[in-house]
Amino acid sequence: MTTKTSAQPAIGNAKMIIGGEQVDAADGQTFDVMNPATGEVLARAPLGGPEDVDRAVKAAQAAFEGPWSTWSASKRGRTLQKFSNLVKQNLEELAQLESRNVGKPISGARGEALAVSLVFEYYAGAANKLFGETIPVSRPGLDFTLREPIGVVGLIVPWNFPMNMASWKLGPALAAGNTAILKPASYTPLTAIRLGELALEAGFPPGVVNVITGPGGTAGAALAGHAGVGKVAFTGETTTGQEIMRLAANNVKKISLELGGKSPNIVFADADLERFAAESPLAVFDNAGQDCCARSRIFVEASVHDKVVELFTEATRKVIVGDPSQDATQMGSLISERQRERVIDYIAIGRDEGAELVYGGEAPSGEVFENGAYLMPTIFDAASTEMRIVREEIFGPVVAIIPFSDEADAVRLANDTPYGLSGSIWSRDIGKALRVAKAVKAGVLSVNSNSSVHTEAPFGGYKMSGMGRELGMHALELYTEVKNVFVDLT
Ligand code: NAD
Repeated sequence: MTTKTSAQPAIGNAKMIIGGEQVDAADGQTFDVMNPATGEVLARAPLGGPEDVDRAVKAAQAAFEGPWSTWSASKRGRTLQKFSNLVKQNLEELAQLESRNVGKPISGARGEALAVSLVFEYYAGAANKLFGETIPVSRPGLDFTLREPIGVVGLIVPWNFPMNMASWKLGPALAAGNTAILKPASYTPLTAIRLGELALEAGFPPGVVNVITGPGGTAGAALAGHAGVGKVAFTGETTTGQEIMRLAANNVKKISLELGGKSPNIVFADADLERFAAESPLAVFDNAGQDCCARSRIFVEASVHDKVVELFTEATRKVIVGDPSQDATQMGSLISERQRERVIDYIAIGRDEGAELVYGGEAPSGEVFENGAYLMPTIFDAASTEMRIVREEIFGPVVAIIPFSDEADAVRLANDTPYGLSGSIWSRDIGKALRVAKAVKAGVLSVNSNSSVHTEAPFGGYKMSGMGRELGMHALELYTEVKNVFVDLT
């Protein structure tokens, strides 16, 4: 199914935010920010580099040592609540910016903007519920711990869910009393900049929230390597995460990493197959498959394989691919022509490897799709875990279906991957579902559901999908140091 496109005006020149000021790059350079659904230039943004990062670190250090350090946890919480309210008041603008910059459907972008507001609301409440403990040590005295902010934290986020990934980091970082430098992906700087403006409007002192735009290899690397930054929180590709680890080693920075995934959707014969099929196409094709949690490997019990392929393909035909600005659209464009080429290469690899193309595999046809980076949802059947399309993160709308023989086989195949982010198990036998949930090596699992993200619950990966847990109260651990104090009472 498809919908048509509509023209919208360009946005103009964007500015970075350093020390409360809206600024250009030190050397005045800019880059074009595109709308990947139309191929048009949406805005120009400053091409920040190491000099700008250094300015931002100095501003964040000054803010950390300035009045911000005297703010009570409750005051930080109240300001986060104002930030949350402002996001809600500007929800439509944020959603439009995100939709146009990422090529994602406006209805989804509205949901994402609301989620940002709810994340800030959660951490507004959490700010004054973060405390230490008293410990019965052996020596006569009182032993207690303090939870203290780390200092300046660098927050490096990807282009697939730009404002959500920013909020997952900004919320706990600010609640815990850190100052932050946010570095969005160069494809998608616009909502990060807008969030920086709203943070100032909410009343965070200048320098508490800074936003640097620019390429990962220069601006991002300068931030990850800067000796004045105490922690870096990163979401992005696994290989970039490895580079961040190397850069962070400079000054032994704390790091948390949310990396790639290749999540399994495990379907047993006793599951509600109709429900699985109705709910699961968007578990992989949402955001055009550019989702670290995308259920890109479907493992089906062999006895129901044919039926599941038929039901899932039927449900996928109903996914509405079209102009992201239209309310009905469920799948928009990919982030760039380059990304589309990459996914098309993987589709060719899948064919060469002997997987059977059941649906999609090419760009949708029609005038609306002419200038955008669109691709149809694509289903491969008869795949195996040796194939590259099953081992590697494609980050596009491609799913591979693989049959399994029994419970042990399902677990073995699901774990046959370097990744371990999320996954789902579908069965009416709750004992079996829970055994499998315990056996699958992944950080975020769901039973009879594809839901992976809950503001209140920890999110993060096993194995090469990362380290640390974002969201919930767990995230606060990523942004605090624990200090132990012993008082001799003799
Ligand atoms: P990416 O790794 O290319 O870029 C992510 C961010 O890192 C960007 O801001 C980029 O500018 C910056 N960067 C790039 N090179 C850098 C360097 N050398 N030093 C410092 N920073 C650098 O990732 P992407 O293409 O923007 O996003 C897609 C990836 O993100 C996928 O692999 C996806 O699975 C992953 N992702 C993971 C999660 C999760 O929570 N696990 C969530 C969303 C996306």
